[in-house]
Amino acid sequence: MRNFKEKPKVVIIGGGFGGLEAAKRLGNKPFEVILIDRKNHHTFQPLLYQVATAVLSPGEIASPIRRILHRYKNIEVILGEVTDFDLNRKAVKINACPESDDNRCEIFFDYLIVAAGAKHSYFGHEDWEELAPGLKTLEDALEIRRRLLFVFELAEREALLTGIQKPISFAIIGGGPTGVELAGAVAGIARRALAKDFKLIDTTKARVMLFEGASRILSSFDETLSQKAKKQLEDLGVEVYLNSFVKAVERGRILVNDEWIECSAVLWATGVSASPLGKKLGAPTDKVGRVLVNPDLSIPDHKNVFVIGDMAFVKMDNGNPVPGVAPAAIQMAQTVAENIIRDQKGKERKVFKYVDKGSMATIGRNKAIAEIGRIKLSGLIAWLTWLFVHLIFLIGFRNKVSVMIEWIWAYFTRERSARLITGDAEELLKTFASRQNLPTAKR
Ligand SMILES: Cc1cc2nc3c(=O)[nH]c(=O)nc-3n(C[C@H](O)[C@H](O)[C@H](O)COP(=O)(O)OP(=O)(O)OC[C@H]3O[C@@H](n4cnc5c(N)ncnc54)[C@H](O)[C@@H]3O)c2cc1C
Repeated sequence: MRNFKEKPKVVIIGGGFGGLEAAKRLGNKPFEVILIDRKNHHTFQPLLYQVATAVLSPGEIASPIRRILHRYKNIEVILGEVTDFDLNRKAVKINACPESDDNRCEIFFDYLIVAAGAKHSYFGHEDWEELAPGLKTLEDALEIRRRLLFVFELAEREALLTGIQKPISFAIIGGGPTGVELAGAVAGIARRALAKDFKLIDTTKARVMLFEGASRILSSFDETLSQKAKKQLEDLGVEVYLNSFVKAVERGRILVNDEWIECSAVLWATGVSASPLGKKLGAPTDKVGRVLVNPDLSIPDHKNVFVIGDMAFVKMDNGNPVPGVAPAAIQMAQTVAENIIRDQKGKERKVFKYVDKGSMATIGRNKAIAEIGRIKLSGLIAWLTWLFVHLIFLIGFRNKVSVMIEWIWAYFTRERSARLITGDAEELLKTFASRQNLPTAKR
């Protein structure tokens, strides 16, 4: 048994981008670090859409947290869901023993770093989630993959059994980076990857519709780039609808502005709400539940409790909030780890300053946009930059190699190697009640 006595104890909630970086920064330093996550793996969320669209397999974009941190002798990883806090007693409650109230379910800390992230929100219509899944976890990606592939399987089966051949259509709601990436990749599956494998239906006729409530997609990018992205999507056959608010989601159809539109599957890529743990800290939050942190990222009245990443609301010098992106979570983690080390050395804490290293979104083969400072890229060069950056940041050497091979394979063959429908396919029928939405037959 290692002796942690005398060392300040740092508890980190979340093994995402923020939590992992904080742990690494405190690794092999004079602290006892405990990282708690409800999953045993770190997920590289920027590539989730590629799992959802059958380019990559789950294991290629996720790594066990215990493995990532194994070389740090002072870090213990615990699998568990944090449910509450007692900040006065410096305790974190986990769901280890739900029947019991005693403190065996509590982990005590000297410092607490909360990095539990955010998820998509349905603006008060949580019942839409079953019909229009969002993309945040590996499970979400697999569910979306199941539905996408099942739509085509069902259509082929119906074409054989009944001769009914009606159009397939996919609706993607939200024209931010995730919606754009999904729309481009879904179009790619339908137009290329599946086209030769289905004999009775013409998968290339599938409609892919992207709905955005604002007047342009990718509104966080420069306007010329969002126009280029729209054009690139349209070149792939995606129908982009702007100023289009989704007001209702029902089985087999959605209400956009005042028009009902039939769709075989709906994917949700808009709205964000911070982890509910933020509210349990008792600190002020904004309307999506992000905690309003102090300049050193601690929370009011508790200098030893920090909130970072997608859960934290911090303003940049220009008055806009720091965006919910991986580099922001990583930079916040670095500031917090340094502040904890500074505390021990009796030094003054640092104020968090976000350094924007640029943003990019991919649309499809040879198609992407990137904005790095004043440099604006689109097309092939932006796409290559996107590939390179994502390979560099993906965790694990084996994953990097494996993903690179998959990408090269997919580029030259246009094949999607992870086209598996897992679980009970017939169960999916419940989700596709509208069975008229079937594709045009080839012959
Ligand atoms: C589909 C998608 C695509 C994205 N693409 C990009 C991109 O291209 N570039 C980019 O920069 N950013 C991208 N982002 C955003 C980026 O992933 C987030 O900003 C980043 O993950 C935030 O890091 P975080 O540490 O705050 O939270 P996360 O990385 O989300 O980690 C939170 C962790 O906390 C754990 N957790 C949550 N609640 C609990 C609990 N109660 N108890 C225990 N553990 C808990 C979770 O299991 C998770 O491991 C994308 C996000 C999504 C969803």
